Amino acid sequence: MESLDSLCRRAKALLHTDTLSVWPDSVNISGKTAAFMADTGAQDVLCIAGPLPGFSGSSDGIVTVCPLSHQNAQALRACFPFTAPVPVLKYDRSVGVGDRLGIASPGHIRVFRRFDAMPVLAQQSIRELNLTHRTYSDVIDCASFAVFREGFRRGFGADGDHLKTREEIEYALKSGCTMITLDCSEHICSDAAHMDADALRANYTPDRALEQRWLNRSFRAEAHTISFTPEDLMRAQLLYGKAIAFAAAIWTEYIAPLNGQVDFEISIDETPTPTSPQQHFFVAAELLRLGVRPDTVAPRFCGEFQKGVDYSGDLQQFEREAAVHAAIARHFGYKLSIHSGSDKFSVFPILGRETRGRFHLKTAGTNWLEAMRLVAEKDPALYRQVHAYAITAFPEAAKYYHVSTSPATVPPLDTLPDAALPALFRRDDARQLIHITYGLILTAAGPDGRPLFKDRLYALWRTYAQDYAQLLDNHIGKHLDLLMQKSN
Ligand code: ZN
Repeated sequence: MESLDSLCRRAKALLHTDTLSVWPDSVNISGKTAAFMADTGAQDVLCIAGPLPGFSGSSDGIVTVCPLSHQNAQALRACFPFTAPVPVLKYDRSVGVGDRLGIASPGHIRVFRRFDAMPVLAQQSIRELNLTHRTYSDVIDCASFAVFREGFRRGFGADGDHLKTREEIEYALKSGCTMITLDCSEHICSDAAHMDADALRANYTPDRALEQRWLNRSFRAEAHTISFTPEDLMRAQLLYGKAIAFAAAIWTEYIAPLNGQVDFEISIDETPTPTSPQQHFFVAAELLRLGVRPDTVAPRFCGEFQKGVDYSGDLQQFEREAAVHAAIARHFGYKLSIHSGSDKFSVFPILGRETRGRFHLKTAGTNWLEAMRLVAEKDPALYRQVHAYAITAFPEAAKYYHVSTSPATVPPLDTLPDAALPALFRRDDARQLIHITYGLILTAAGPDGRPLFKDRLYALWRTYAQDYAQLLDNHIGKHLDLLMQKSN
């Protein structure tokens, strides 16, 4: 095998360039094979030498310079298994850090080098894919190339997040997702949360077997005792009965046959109705009875977990209920999953303590907010344009995302000097404005059909890639610091 220098000279000749910087952590040379990633200044490429099958690119017979295509991602995963996603929920701590832009993983990897937790670097919901015009293959490929470039060998997960239908599950599995998050929200009958006794009786279909299982007895989850009045039972069954049946059908059809090769999370969080600990116990026990063995369950906690801002609600109630939710999860043998986990700093110490350091945390949009904070810092003129567009796009975006703030309270940008723009990202109203409009910003096109912002944004993020990685390291690191702090 030739030296790295000589392989690099060959790659430069193939690319007709003088500048090519090798990513040092990507260099894999053994025996007759070599593989490494390099930056041409305009993009990253993969350089392959020796008998490594499946790659395609321009070749001089010794070195092949490969674009970061789907085919080359598949070849990379076959030759270097650490670049392929794996199930990760069996580890005590796992954290989803979906990368909406396909550029956040190097920063995320910096965080995970510092913390004992398994990352889910590829994680997108169908809603996010639609809003950003991406595919699961693209999302997973970005993560594979990033772990190769950074030499991150611990492993990572790929989460088909918030999947609601069989078609979506099949699509995610076919694309290589190693985790399925089943969103049962469309099967949850939220009306039942507020029904009085008469309404409950009118809607409930008597079920002797169910009543025998649940009435006139009490249940324990560690130190907590749980019991049901007839009204409690009717309400729990009306709220969650259909969702439980749906989860059981999906488990039997898709998940059980995979024998643990894919992680399974059940989410009941995307509804207006908080899951009481008692109802959580009901869902868990009925799922178990039907043979469903989720790796994680995401209840809807009390209070509000809004996108991109801290928890709002009664912290004492949260703490009391989190203790029971965590005990129920342990009792039934799964981990508690915390959704919409971006920026929930005030509840992280509670969750870390009550789960005894066994949890799945899911964050998604906060890496997008950090990317936009970078734009506000580095290119105020571009930021001002994007911000003005976001204000016009807000009503449309608010159809998909529940937020309580309004752009009306954000200070008009013409009253702010450039230096004050990054501080907007400390305001809930400005954070939510930018947080929920990401899809419309990224796909906005001018009259000629060309992107209004996307190309300029990506160019900036490429120029300041190291700053972006540092912002993510700090920001996601703050989440993990609080979740994993030692308590006495
Ligand atoms: Zn969720």
